[in-house]
Amino acid sequence: MNSAAAINQTEIDQTEIDHDDSIQGASPDRYRINWIMNLPFLGMHAACLGAFWVGISWKPVALCAALYAIRMFGITAGYHRYFSHRSYRTSRAFQFFLAWIGCSALQKGPLWWAALHRHHHRNSDEKEDVHSPLQSGFWWSHVGWIMSNKYEATDFNVIKDFSQYPELRWLNRYWAVPGVLLAAACFFFMGWPGLIWGFFISTVLLYHGTFVTNSLCHMLGRIRYKTADTSRNSFILALVTLGEGWHNNHHYYSASARMGFFWWEVDISYYTLRCLSLLGLVWDIKKPKDRVLKMCEPRPRVETQYRG
Ligand SMILES: [Zn+2]
Ligand SMILES: [Zn+2]
Repeated sequence: MNSAAAINQTEIDQTEIDHDDSIQGASPDRYRINWIMNLPFLGMHAACLGAFWVGISWKPVALCAALYAIRMFGITAGYHRYFSHRSYRTSRAFQFFLAWIGCSALQKGPLWWAALHRHHHRNSDEKEDVHSPLQSGFWWSHVGWIMSNKYEATDFNVIKDFSQYPELRWLNRYWAVPGVLLAAACFFFMGWPGLIWGFFISTVLLYHGTFVTNSLCHMLGRIRYKTADTSRNSFILALVTLGEGWHNNHHYYSASARMGFFWWEVDISYYTLRCLSLLGLVWDIKKPKDRVLKMCEPRPRVETQYRG
């Protein structure tokens, strides 16, 4: 198996990842939104209204659901658990495949995404945190920060381990290519209903399905582990996000590819990774250690004051 061998795959915790906080400072101008630059993002939402024109039928809706699930896997298992946390290993070819699927969700490139996510773990709910509902309110943590000029650049210092691959740097730069090709394929195979449901509506649901990890997963649910942030566990959000809703577990032990620590904590991305490991496509999947599972006495709920 062709391994992405150049990566030093020691078990790492996010606190050990090299970082540079300089570009993500907490200056007030970070709240400035460039509405012109965000017209494509806003246009994606407006295009969903096309559903009133094409109507509703089961094939385009099934395409919408399938492309939501596949691309959510690209974000959760690819962008998040692999590129941000290196919680399992894979080949260079499959690594590129994961990056491509993640890119087709149109949430920018894998290196950009993972670099900012590593920053989130280092500064969770502190003033430097790019998307903290505690610091900046629900709307900012959910969608505002994505529309801010301040966070457009990729901080390659934080993601040196994957920046060494030219194909990933290319995808990071031309991140819209997989999404545009997907839109063309939806239109080619299923016409306007395929484009509206399979691409626009699916992508917008995917935006907000992903964004709740930054907003609601720090606001709603139970706290199991005493972490330095407001992360929480939520069954409903775990279903929407294919497992990311076990966010308190994740903040406590971010090295694990498994976010639902117990059998009743549904984690579809993890189950999928287990299936892929049976096929030999991924391996060395990291799981929570026994000592982590034993330290899970429930903690009294902490009520937090949120802005906005
Ligand atoms: Zn994470
Ligand atoms: Zn978080």
